[in-house]
Amino acid sequence: MTITLERPAFDSLRADMRGEVIGPADPGYETARRVHNGMIDKRPAVIARCTGVADVQAALHFGIAHDLPVAVRGGGHNVAGKAVCDDGIVIDLSPMKGMRVLPGERVAQAQAGLTWGEFDRETQAFGLATTGGAISTTGIAGLTLGGGIGWLQRKHGLTCDNLLSADVVLADGRFLRANGAENEDLFWGLRGGGGNFGIVTSFEYRLHPVGRVVGGPVVYPFDAAREVFRFYRDYSAAAPDDLFVEFGMATLPDGQRAVMVFVVYAGPLAAADDVLRPLREFGSPLEDMTATMSYCEVQQAFDADFPDGILNYWKSSNIRELTDDAIETMVAFMAASPSLRPMVIIDQFGGAVARVPDDATAFGHRDAAYDLIIAAIWSAPGEQEAHIDWARRFWEAMQPHASGDVYVNYLSEEGQDRVRDAYGHHYARLVDLKRRYDPHNVFRGNQNIQP
Ligand SMILES: Cc1cc2nc3c(=O)[nH]c(=O)nc-3n(C[C@H](O)[C@H](O)[C@H](O)COP(=O)(O)OP(=O)(O)OC[C@H]3O[C@@H](n4cnc5c(N)ncnc54)[C@H](O)[C@@H]3O)c2cc1C
Repeated sequence: MTITLERPAFDSLRADMRGEVIGPADPGYETARRVHNGMIDKRPAVIARCTGVADVQAALHFGIAHDLPVAVRGGGHNVAGKAVCDDGIVIDLSPMKGMRVLPGERVAQAQAGLTWGEFDRETQAFGLATTGGAISTTGIAGLTLGGGIGWLQRKHGLTCDNLLSADVVLADGRFLRANGAENEDLFWGLRGGGGNFGIVTSFEYRLHPVGRVVGGPVVYPFDAAREVFRFYRDYSAAAPDDLFVEFGMATLPDGQRAVMVFVVYAGPLAAADDVLRPLREFGSPLEDMTATMSYCEVQQAFDADFPDGILNYWKSSNIRELTDDAIETMVAFMAASPSLRPMVIIDQFGGAVARVPDDATAFGHRDAAYDLIIAAIWSAPGEQEAHIDWARRFWEAMQPHASGDVYVNYLSEEGQDRVRDAYGHHYARLVDLKRRYDPHNVFRGNQNIQP
């Protein structure tokens, strides 16, 4: 059952907003309530599709006045489905796609409804980019507020390290800017503390010159998984900051299981062959697909593996060290996955991420070596039990090798202890900030910091 608001309430919100207001009886409702993860099936009382700050303020005011749970939607990619809620108001920022690049200053001003594909397209028109998510349909908003992991992070830092300023609507409806000179405490919390402190309507990012890159996978037969993993451990540990190396499980077009080392090299092209030679000379790959390509191309390389609406269940942990034991466990679980769709991904940190002082932002895991994403992905609704069970058992088996930390944006619905693990040793400072900016926890439809 969905809570239904009275007609006069809808009419008053419609009168206050420039954007569309969608209720359960409207034809667009079924589409508008859906997010990237097809497992999420929530039924909001109203969806307010905002066109700017005034709409956000009107929708928030309406939600509070009617005592509705509030969810904020950027790109709608959060696997836990935090962009929507049951019986509440969804403040949907996805129509807000304005963007301006200031090439001389190497700055981008971007509204909160943009996706990384849309953002990259504009910055690349000027040969510029900032660290952003690896799937082009992911929203810039949720990703930035949680930290922001991407191919360029070892060279240019996390996405949040490139955030210069944010426009924010607070829980009491006030608008303010947060940056290095104004509301610095809030600016600190926005860089890793998620959407806990307010609704960010626009972000300002530092950009960097990024031309053509060398990217793509080298694919190996699954039988070689152990050796490839060990090679990955050594090669990633020795990588220069210009290089990001990912290990992944892959499925070939003929349905065979395989493993891959995926690289993105964003340094001088003349040096690429030397940097990539150890990988290109290692083992007996099925295929070396590394090639020189545009930054936008590499940013979309995995899009087809994550179609909108596919069923997802993720578990993740930061990993201290890729020991032989850890590798053994991972290979055993990959071999036993219930389907060929799941993605098992290891990402490396270090470089510029580790050089930012720990207390400079709320992102709490500067010392992470690797993270592990166990992404069970399937399409038949009846199969969910087997996939979720596999992901959970895999994650449990990896805990002896895990640091205890997890990236907040990779959390599923996993309980408050795990939320604390995600914010790590900054949790107490984040609680103080939450008490200052959102004492009544209006913004609780997120990985929540409880005031
Ligand atoms: C296929 C896939 C690939 C991914 N790849 C990466 C990756 O490469 N790097 C990485 O770091 N992460 C990645 N992620 C994780 C991603 O960072 C999170 O899913 C993130 O939440 C996505 O942001 P969004 O705006 O699309 O999310 P949404 O689902 O819209 O929102 C996520 C959370 O942020 C809050 N929020 C959203 N917008 C705002 C706002 N403007 N103001 C305040 N709060 C807001 C929401 O309330 C919610 O709690 C990936 C996820 C998926 C599903």
